[in-house]
Amino acid sequence: DPSVCAPLAVLGADVTVPLVTGGEVGYAALDYAASAPALQRVWDDVAAYAPYYGSVHRGAGYLSQLSTDLFESSRVTVAEFLGCRAEDQVVFTRSTTDSLNLLAAALPADCEVFVFETEHHASLLPWRGARVTCLDAPRTPDQAVATLERALSGRAPHGPALVCVTGASNVTGELWPVRELAAAAHAHGARIVLDAAQLAPHHPVDIAELDVDWVAFSGHKLYAPFGSGVLAGRADWLVDAEPYLAGGGASRKVTRRTDGSVDVEWHTTAARHEAGSPNVIGVYSIAAACKALTEAGFDRLVAREQQLVTRVREGLAGVPEVKVLSLFGDDAPRVGVISFVVEGWNSSHFAAALSAEYGIGVRDGLFCAHPLVRTLLGSEPQEPGECGAPEAAPGERSLNAIRVSFGAGTPDEHIERFLGAVR
Ligand code: PMP
Repeated sequence: DPSVCAPLAVLGADVTVPLVTGGEVGYAALDYAASAPALQRVWDDVAAYAPYYGSVHRGAGYLSQLSTDLFESSRVTVAEFLGCRAEDQVVFTRSTTDSLNLLAAALPADCEVFVFETEHHASLLPWRGARVTCLDAPRTPDQAVATLERALSGRAPHGPALVCVTGASNVTGELWPVRELAAAAHAHGARIVLDAAQLAPHHPVDIAELDVDWVAFSGHKLYAPFGSGVLAGRADWLVDAEPYLAGGGASRKVTRRTDGSVDVEWHTTAARHEAGSPNVIGVYSIAAACKALTEAGFDRLVAREQQLVTRVREGLAGVPEVKVLSLFGDDAPRVGVISFVVEGWNSSHFAAALSAEYGIGVRDGLFCAHPLVRTLLGSEPQEPGECGAPEAAPGERSLNAIRVSFGAGTPDEHIERFLGAVR
């Protein structure tokens, strides 16, 4: 139903790019999983507000008051979008990576952390001060739950523990059994944070219904421009922690003691972790995207995207040289994120050809999920340093993959052009 897309036109949809084979073609952005194009509606909202922006929480003037108001009402919009509970806090950050690093900095002493090796590096790596258990890649959603339960039942029962799990894989697009993993975590006295960087743009996320403790996501994957992210969820660990950044805005009262030292009372609201002048444009654009998705009817968007997923899966299945990467099996439910390799092709060359000869932007590489991609490709660990494009000689097994990803606003023509190009 193309009418579903109409209110969700994407910015830059009419950009044309030159082809090496001659001529120009409308650019087909099929790399939503890296950064989705901003919705025109979001851009319009931001453009309407842009002449009026001012400092947040830092001014008596009209523009400052207006900006403070929009900043705080954006928090409410995001809380509603995520179905937050009354006691949850919404902290604005720079990105999912930033949100998870903030939570990592707020872990209580002696916290254990459990992650699957399949995670994006943003959810795999921030937990540096903690004891981290990295769990084997499961081959079914049930196995994921069983693996987590086994790991949690082996730990000392009373200490704090956190599970970090992605809702939809940035490599396979497969949906993870978040509700079941949350139940398992809670049954063993652990908490759980959902990396919703790939889930939130493609699927409604309800923090209370999923019963997760925190959710993290990025604006630039949720059809907003760059620069802002969200960590939403339970306040207690966040309020007990030292501020993520120290500075103005996070501090409620600062005094100089007689001995010359400085005494600080920190805020206990989300402001505690938002020191410095906030990115009001970025935050406002996230809220605008939440509103646009809600008003367009998220269920309709999901239904439309699933038609495209089916079309891509069927199209790729018709090309014998293509192997789609999957952890949970070809029929597993997934969002519009699909990775594959093509026999006889170096994935980087293949992706470059899609761009240069067809005007299609996809991604190649290991997608900042090295252990997962290696598991899926059955390849050996490589030298460090590559997030991009290790070489495989033509005809050899690929050492990296190609990822096509799409969502709101993707026209049928882009998908058909992509499948035609692959064929
Ligand atoms: N988690 C997942 C699942 C992702 O796909 C990404 C981005 N590729 C991130 C976290 C990190 O997001 P950001 O780069 O916006 O911090």
